[in-house]
Amino acid sequence: MNRRRFLHHSAWLAAGAIAAPALFSSCKKTNLFESESFSGEVIVVGAGIAGLYAAELLIQQGVNVRIIESTNRWGGRMRSLPNITNDRLNIEQRTVQGQFSALYDLLINKNVSLQEPPLQELFYFNGRLNTPQEATQNTFFLEMLNVIAGFNNYSGADISALDYYNALNMSENTTHIFNVLTGQVHGTSSDHISGVGLAKQHHVWTAGDKKFRVSTEAIERACANAFARAINTITYDTSIASIDYTQSKINITSSTGEAWTCDKVLVTVPLDVLKNGSIAFTPSLGDKQIQALSRISIDHSYCALMKLDTPQWPLGTTRIYGSGIVQCFDVNDDGWIYAEASGTQADTISSIFGETLDIFKNQLDNILPGAAAHIIEGYVQQWNGNRSFDAPGIGNSRATLAESIGEKLYFAGEATHTGGHHGTLHGAMETGWRAVYQMLEKSAS
Ligand SMILES: Cc1cc2nc3c(=O)[nH]c(=O)nc-3n(C[C@H](O)[C@H](O)[C@H](O)COP(=O)(O)OP(=O)(O)OC[C@H]3O[C@@H](n4cnc5c(N)ncnc54)[C@H](O)[C@@H]3O)c2cc1C
Repeated sequence: MNRRRFLHHSAWLAAGAIAAPALFSSCKKTNLFESESFSGEVIVVGAGIAGLYAAELLIQQGVNVRIIESTNRWGGRMRSLPNITNDRLNIEQRTVQGQFSALYDLLINKNVSLQEPPLQELFYFNGRLNTPQEATQNTFFLEMLNVIAGFNNYSGADISALDYYNALNMSENTTHIFNVLTGQVHGTSSDHISGVGLAKQHHVWTAGDKKFRVSTEAIERACANAFARAINTITYDTSIASIDYTQSKINITSSTGEAWTCDKVLVTVPLDVLKNGSIAFTPSLGDKQIQALSRISIDHSYCALMKLDTPQWPLGTTRIYGSGIVQCFDVNDDGWIYAEASGTQADTISSIFGETLDIFKNQLDNILPGAAAHIIEGYVQQWNGNRSFDAPGIGNSRATLAESIGEKLYFAGEATHTGGHHGTLHGAMETGWRAVYQMLEKSAS
């Protein structure tokens, strides 16, 4: 292995500037490892962005790869609403977080236009919608923003963001906005996420502070092109149920009894799948892995996409902070609304009898009376696991989960990111890269 060369790449990665365009610009093998001795077969479980990126890198190194995916499509959580019709994929948007990442480089390389849209937000509190100018006249609102900014340097007790907020005797009028900004944006709620975790993430984050909004359709088109060879290897509609790595060859079995053997396996399934034990490992994972799995948290969520015949908000508005159970509505001038509820708010939705879409409509009506009557189209998706986040007590569990076992079993996927980029698309990609490094480094040394 050309260790110096790899470390150079790793340093770029650590700095957030992985050389993705070079990796995707040609079909030629890239000699990251000059003395490659590994000529076996790798099975990648899961065709999300981590698995696809890892598989593409392995193929580029001349490794024989097969991806096995439980659903009938690749991409995993790349979509908020996986079952949405293709013509709606250009409506659904994702945030590309940061300008120094493999994902950013990939999108630029594939000519995706990355825009930083101007934010025009409205904040619902004190019984009405407030413009930013009005909101910042309010002392409670400003204090709430100060508490959030303070998490960047927080070094107090390892308690939830909400417990810290409440300990400061902050006003309840703006708790829902605090909840969105500290919890919901991480796929959870502020009573579940750790204040220490937020501070740590801020300090180790290397992807940059720009936020670009890109349609899911554009991200998928770029990935289809960049990961074409990996996508070609996918076996769809096949859920892996057991991985036996007792022998020198690994035996992998699906829930319907299909079987494969390989030399190394890379598991990239979402954290909730690992936590609920739907993949049986033989030998079973060790105590430290099991403890790590129990300490990394992931919450369930509801996501909704709704179309109104005419926008019921001032043109140019991009986000409306609500109150109640659904606390954030991303809107546009075409009358589209995207809304999410996670963690405690998702639990509340689950406990309410009736159609979930109706709950989202009612929540909208509470802040924009009469708006629900204008909805002409709507979709809802429930996620058993949205994305992992740092709850109090997580310690270094992500590093434990990222360790390989016996040079046979490897883990990637957003939850295994140890540098603060967990819960993101680019972070998931980086774990794919790290897993490939772990596999080939040992084989080549
Ligand atoms: C609603 C929502 C909104 C988000 N918004 C953003 C955003 O705007 N910006 C951002 O950067 N990140 C966002 N994220 C996070 C980002 O989508 C994820 O971090 C990333 O997609 C995770 O990729 P992954 O490859 O680790 O996992 P996944 O994409 O989940 O891939 C894992 C794959 O494994 C498959 N699988 C599961 N079980 C099995 C099995 N037993 N056998 C075989 N295959 C299996 C799954 O079907 C899936 O395809 C969001 C996440 C959600 C849920």
